[in-house]
Amino acid sequence: MNKIVLINEDLCIGCGKCVKLCPKKILYLDKTNKKCKVSDETKCDKLAGCQRICPVKAIRIIK
Ligand code: SF4
Ligand code: SF4
Repeated sequence: MNKIVLINEDLCIGCGKCVKLCPKKILYLDKTNKKCKVSDETKCDKLAGCQRICPVKAIRIIK
C-alpha cells in the first residue's frame, strides 16, 4: 500500500497533468484504465506539486 503518494482513482480523470509535472517521473497513467499510478514513491520529493495541479484533487501527499 502507498504511504506517501495517495491517489484516489475514483476521482482521477486521467488528464495527465500530474504526470507531466512530476520532477521525479514517478507518476504515470495506467494504459488500460487511464488512471494515475505511482511507481517508486520512495523517490517522491514531497513538495506536493501534483497535489496542487490536480483539477479534481485526486492526489494527496503524506509528509
Ligand atoms: S510530490 Fe512531487 S515528486 Fe512526489 S509525486 Fe508529486 S510531483 Fe512527483
Ligand atoms: S492530475 Fe489528477 S486527474 Fe489528472 S491524471 Fe493526475 S491524478 Fe488524475
